[in-house]
Amino acid sequence: MKKTITEIDPAWLSGRTTVVRADFNVPLEGGRVAEDHRLRACVPTLQLLVDAGAKVVLLSHLGRPAGPDPELSLAPVSERLAELLGRPVLFIGEMDAAKVAAAVADVPPGSVALLENTRFLDGDAANDPRLAASWAALGDLFVNDAFGVAHRAHASTSGLAEATIARGGEAVAGLLMAKELRFLEEALRDPERPFTGILGGSKISGKIEVISALLGRVDRLLIGGAMANTFFRALGLGTGSSLVEEDRIELATSLLEQGGQRLVLPVDCVVTHELKEGGDARTVLRSEVAPDDMIVDIGPATRTLFAEVISGSKSVLWNGPMGVFEIDPFGEGTMAVAHAVATACDRGALGVIGGGDSGAAVDRAGVADRVTHVSTGGGASIKLLAGAQLPGLDSLTEQA
Ligand code: ADP
Ligand code: MG
Repeated sequence: MKKTITEIDPAWLSGRTTVVRADFNVPLEGGRVAEDHRLRACVPTLQLLVDAGAKVVLLSHLGRPAGPDPELSLAPVSERLAELLGRPVLFIGEMDAAKVAAAVADVPPGSVALLENTRFLDGDAANDPRLAASWAALGDLFVNDAFGVAHRAHASTSGLAEATIARGGEAVAGLLMAKELRFLEEALRDPERPFTGILGGSKISGKIEVISALLGRVDRLLIGGAMANTFFRALGLGTGSSLVEEDRIELATSLLEQGGQRLVLPVDCVVTHELKEGGDARTVLRSEVAPDDMIVDIGPATRTLFAEVISGSKSVLWNGPMGVFEIDPFGEGTMAVAHAVATACDRGALGVIGGGDSGAAVDRAGVADRVTHVSTGGGASIKLLAGAQLPGLDSLTEQA
């Protein structure tokens, strides 16, 4: 178990400087934050530090800039964050390490400052130890609250944790990081049963480890999305012009054997000839997909079947949309599953959503506040569910 910020004595924090790695990788539009879900998620950690009287120095990346890019400056983030915190957030736009250190030294105790986009420096993604050391030297404690990038070994994540520990300091998990782990890892390690997994999305290939890891733990694994198509082929069914991973059909065959009754595939599908807004949509049995049909959603009988399994579950883990939910009218299966999970949660079930697109789908369905936990990490949540090691987490100080 890793040490978390709640295990640090608030009296010790008073007057100290904490370096916090957050995930403020949010969409910007016209120089403003267009969606602030990730900023809100970090507020409890920042509030805890500020209440204890610590100086907070925030680090985050935004986008994938190749060097400094004014379009990807974190300045708009500091403005929105100040509104959310109800206190000023000083933006430090300097990139030079000595200038950053001087600016941080001038920040009054108990105040919050945000440094410029870490990825303006090549050394971040390259995990340059000198860069990590320069950030570590800014404070007395490192708090990693950036679950969304916990699967990356960057200078501002694992590098900074290692550099802080090398200086004799501690590197701890923030409240958001701890919450993500509690729901994704701990709750699902020993879930109340029946435990249902739901997987979808475009590809099997990125999620093979998740499928095998879940198959060993769930009572039922519901498969939708384009992922189901590859399983259809493994059953010898035609999939027309649908997205299929030809090179994974054999793998799907062995997963079907391994899963037996636990693995539940769609019984019907929504197909189209035109994958575009307002395109034609027909329901067919999975055995009736014509050569020019493209499978774009689960069908109504499958929605009912999946909703029944979900409503009988005590724990539900969902990753990956059931269809091309971004395009109307192909989102009904995904919306039906979102509502079924929310209804199960209303009755006391644990419902955890991982994956960026799945989180967006839950938002679109308007049920985000009814499900137990919507992860802020796409790739990181999938890696964690698959049982992989996360450098951002592994690098933190062990609990005493
Ligand atoms: P997440 O981000 O939640 O992990 P993925 O990135 O794996 O989910 O998958 C999301 C994508 O899968 C969406 O863009 C969606 O349009 C696509 N998708 C789902 N079902 C299908 C399908 N039947 N055919 C093509 N694409 C699909
Ligand atoms: Mg995605």
